[in-house]
Amino acid sequence: MKNLNRRDFLKSTALGVSAVALGATSVKGADKTLSEDRIGILVDTAVCIGCRNCEWACRVAHDMPTKELESYSDNSVFKEYRRPDKTALTVVNQFENEKNPLLPVYVKNQCMHCERPACVSACIVGALTKQADGSVIWDDDKCIGCRYCMVACQFQIPSYDYDKSIDPHIRKCDLCFERRKKEKLPACVNICPNEALLFGKRSEIIQIAKNRIKRKPDEYIDHIYGEFEIGGTSWMYIAGKNFEKLKMPPLGNNPAPGISESIQHGIFAYFVPPVALYALLGTVMWITRRRNGENDEENILKPHDEKGENK
Ligand code: SF4
Ligand code: SF4
Ligand code: SF4
Repeated sequence: MKNLNRRDFLKSTALGVSAVALGATSVKGADKTLSEDRIGILVDTAVCIGCRNCEWACRVAHDMPTKELESYSDNSVFKEYRRPDKTALTVVNQFENEKNPLLPVYVKNQCMHCERPACVSACIVGALTKQADGSVIWDDDKCIGCRYCMVACQFQIPSYDYDKSIDPHIRKCDLCFERRKKEKLPACVNICPNEALLFGKRSEIIQIAKNRIKRKPDEYIDHIYGEFEIGGTSWMYIAGKNFEKLKMPPLGNNPAPGISESIQHGIFAYFVPPVALYALLGTVMWITRRRNGENDEENILKPHDEKGENK
């Protein structure tokens, strides 16, 4: 029998998860019929080396231009904080490591695939759907370009291809839905050279994250970002410094959809114009963020010196 190294083992296990979870049907944004085997992806920021291969692989996997990627070895890109947009579904940013300036902290960002996605609740035509496997995808044929999802998302993720004014398309991470249908790992996970991205069952990913934190309390703060934030997310993070300092919003644990959904439906019952809905949704999100308050995690800093478990 062929010997499997650790990376191959993790890949085969993860592909099994993907295949099982993709027996997926779409579920309402706010109900509880998600698969117990739904997907989770851990971003271990203590392991990420900021190579940005994930950015490149994501673009290739989604037929997006990769010309700029020739400059990916140019670290000047890290001078400015970047957000995912229509040209890049995922981006990596660099943050200062106060304990060891020679080892910056890198954080990959993309759609979080919320357990209770506000974007799905805000979508008035059902173009965005939460799948039982945990991914949040959309149907271009249903999308009317209203962009309520952009307003509703607390991570400011959905973007639009404004160049296509007649037939606009949502742009965001789709958790590589098409690749996973073919039993392939998400492109970013597949290419990550340092196993900073770990793909598997959400429940198991959380346990792995807990184990890493427990084993190296000097390296990680005791917080898995995304385990509970706004009701939980599919992408989760562990880090050695307070997540606010990594520009991860302090959202608290209350899901946003309940509020945006009820207000939105009430408004439409009375035919309030879209511009008013934009304003109201924006106000709701502002209030929600304020209500959820700030996360006062302890800020423990330490550069990574080795990878996580399963060595
Ligand atoms: S991060 Fe934003 S776009 Fe992604 S699932 Fe959550 S609400 Fe939707
Ligand atoms: S899961 Fe796929 S779409 Fe999402 S960031 Fe990774 S490569 Fe891009
Ligand atoms: S490919 Fe992996 S190590 Fe490289 S930047 Fe992306 S997450 Fe970090």
